This record gives sequence, C-alpha cells and structure tokens, in this order.
Amino acid sequence: MSELTHPTIQDGWFSEKSGMWPGQAMSLKVNQIIHHEKSKYQDVLVFESSDYGTVLVLDNVIQCTERDEFSYQEMITHLAMNSHPNPEKVLVIGGGDGGVLREVVKHASVKEATLCDIDEAVIRVSKKYLPGMAIGFQHPNAHTHVGDGFEFLKNRQNEFDVIITDSSDPEGPAESLFQKPYFELLKSALREGGVITTQGSENQWLHLDLIADLKKSCKEVFPVAEYAYTTIPTYPSGQIGFMVCCKDASRNVREPLRTWSAEEEQKLCRYYNQDIHRASFVLPNFARQKLNA
Ligand code: SAM
Repeated sequence: MSELTHPTIQDGWFSEKSGMWPGQAMSLKVNQIIHHEKSKYQDVLVFESSDYGTVLVLDNVIQCTERDEFSYQEMITHLAMNSHPNPEKVLVIGGGDGGVLREVVKHASVKEATLCDIDEAVIRVSKKYLPGMAIGFQHPNAHTHVGDGFEFLKNRQNEFDVIITDSSDPEGPAESLFQKPYFELLKSALREGGVITTQGSENQWLHLDLIADLKKSCKEVFPVAEYAYTTIPTYPSGQIGFMVCCKDASRNVREPLRTWSAEEEQKLCRYYNQDIHRASFVLPNFARQKLNA
C-alpha cells in the first residue's frame, strides 16, 4: 500500500458515502492510492482497485472506473449522436476524463469536437493515469477549453449540432448544469435540429423527484425531452440516466436516426447498439408513472 491516505479509504477499501444516496455505499477494494490533490474546484483522487482497474473520484464520488466506464461514455454520446442526421460540430461540457470525446470522434461526420471542463486538474490527471479515456484528447479534430460550461455557452448562437453535458453530480461545481437557465443556453447554442444529452441526476431508484424536475425543466425548453438510462456497476444503485432532447419537434430520439451495421457496432462499441438505444428509453412502471405524469 502506498504512503498516500484518503478519508474515503479505510482498511484497504474505498467507500462512497453521500447524503445523495442515504443508507448505502458502493465499496471497492483498493490496491494503492495513485494520486490525491485538492484542485481549485474539487478533491481529486485516483486509485488502483483490485477488480475495476484505475478509478477517478471527485469530491468522494466515483466518476469512472476502467472496467465499466464504456457503458456510460458510449450511451451518453451515441444516444445523442445517432439521433442527429449529420453531427459535424460537437461540444462536450465537463467530461474531463476524455471518454466522451473518445466516443464523439468515432463518428466520421465530426469536423470539430470541443470539450469544456472547469477543472484542468481532471484533464491533467486523466491524461496521466487514464490513457484509455484520455485518448479522446489526441484526435486532430478535438479541442480543449478549460472553464465553466455555463459561462462558455453564454452568447453562443446556432453553433453546435450536438452538445453532451458529462458533468459531475448537481452538488458542487456542476450545480448550474442541472437547471432551466442552462437548458435555455444549450438550446440557443444548438443549430436547427440539434440534439443534447445530459447526465440525468443519477437514477430512478434514488432520485425520481429530481429526475421528474429535470425532465420538466427540459420539456419547458425543448419540444422533445426523453429520459433514458444505462446499467453500470460502480454508479450508485448500478444505473445512471440521461436526458435526451431535440430542437426539432418532429424528431423521435427513441429511434436511432443513423445506425451502424452489426459488424461496425461490434468494432466500435462494447455497450451501445441500436437495440439498446431503443430499449434505454423503456422504463419500469414506478418510474414511467412519475416521469410521464
Ligand atoms: N460520468 C461522471 C459522473 O457522472 O460521475 C462524470 C465524469 S466527468 C469527470 C465530470 C466533469 O464535470 C469533471 O471533470 C468536472 O470538473 C466537470 N464539471 C463540473 N462542473 C462543471 C462546470 N460547471 N463546467 C464544466 N465542467 C464541469
């Protein structure tokens, strides 16, 4: 075990405890702590786990593990990208690990992909310790901007085909990215027919009221606003959701507008396929009832 210590790691186990998920905690066995710093915005921890590879933790909350990150990164990206007929100019807000950027540039139509994360520390640390995700930064069409996503979007009109908000949870620097004024900025920054996805306040088991509020805010701004989710072992309760919204009232984001062949899907993705695109919008009764109310 390294000499570094962290309050979330006791007796060789990391535990994720938060008032956002009372009475439960995800624990991972730690081989060694690789990096710890307090950045300008958050507590940044990287450790090597026994079974989930390298893990990035911000403000004591798991952001990604090498073993299961692909589920989240592929779904938040391709639900939006494949709901657009020809995404050329794409913006990622947050996403400092580079995983969403890696997925965006898999689409041959993309001429420019810009990432705006508030915290240079996340980008720096990910480039050093999470190369499988940070590879997204190396693409010739990828550009990086360090700054607040809300500020970045102000005064941007009709610029992007797709905007993906890969933010941390609503407590902390990402708070403004879950509120209606942010969705209004997103809408203005989109070109005609543009699509967005956002991290949708964890999941149905924990935050149905928050998701219902989020969906309501999105619906007030976008003519199309749908909730989808994916399974992922290391997020609380093993799920995380997304809002998928479109400026074009006639678009059905539940149905992929563009698809890859089965061979291409196998080559490009480990989680996403066109069947899972459709299935990710199908909700159990308790959630459907609340979110459609
Ligand atoms: N998928 C992850 C999750 O839900 O746990 C999120 C991963 S990604 C590392 C989250 C990123 O959002 C962090 O790098 C953080 O710095 C960034 N972030 C938080 N607030 C932000 C803001 N206001 N503007 C831009 N980026 C922000």
